[in-house]
Amino acid sequence: MNIILLGPPGAGKGTQAARLQAARGMVQLSTGDMLREAVAAGTPIGLQAKVVMERGELVSDAIVSALIGERLDAASEQGAIFDGFPRTRAQAEALDLLLSERGRRLDHVIELAVDEDELVKRIVGRFSCARCGAGYHDSFRPTQVPGVCDVCGSTEFKRRRDDNEQTVRTRMVEYRAKTAPILPYYDARDLVRRVDGMASVEQVGAEIDAILDGTV
Ligand code: AMP
Repeated sequence: MNIILLGPPGAGKGTQAARLQAARGMVQLSTGDMLREAVAAGTPIGLQAKVVMERGELVSDAIVSALIGERLDAASEQGAIFDGFPRTRAQAEALDLLLSERGRRLDHVIELAVDEDELVKRIVGRFSCARCGAGYHDSFRPTQVPGVCDVCGSTEFKRRRDDNEQTVRTRMVEYRAKTAPILPYYDARDLVRRVDGMASVEQVGAEIDAILDGTV
């Protein structure tokens, strides 16, 4: 099964993708994570992407489509969860080609519908464990012991450079202008399922599970 999680920044795509990966053995393919790795490693792609990401704009279609192509073969038989990709019509077409070349197809496009003002609050304030990647939020999900990761006990945390209010607003504008318009492309194939992304993480997870299990 191959699915796309679609929604603006902060909608919960990464959280749900990580949950599905752990629960079902599907492989999370996050272009944002791949680009951040490239930036951290200082590769030519990373150097090019860094400035664009800090502005909250979109990296080129060619770069992100190539990154996905490289990782798609490693995605297990259980299938792939596309998280943060595709973000433009050109990327959606590139994904169709990459899948069909491998004899695979898309099963669902799950749209996480959310309130944008809430999103800014969700994003500004989030941080994660530098060792195990567990996600937290200053107000909504602090660590149980201040400064100590609940999961692995590490005391090192990190924040994304693009999780500040100004960049988040640009990321929202990019979403509305370039990413939301790809919904009709998938709607025409009857692939889109809408989930209330403002519900709790557990509730959103349960709704996604029901879609994947075909019980709704
Ligand atoms: P994300 O982690 O998905 O929020 O992505 C963080 C940033 O990486 C975005 O604001 C873009 O600058 C860049 N990025 C991630 N995925 C894509 C994509 N599919 N197309 C273009 N830019 C992307």
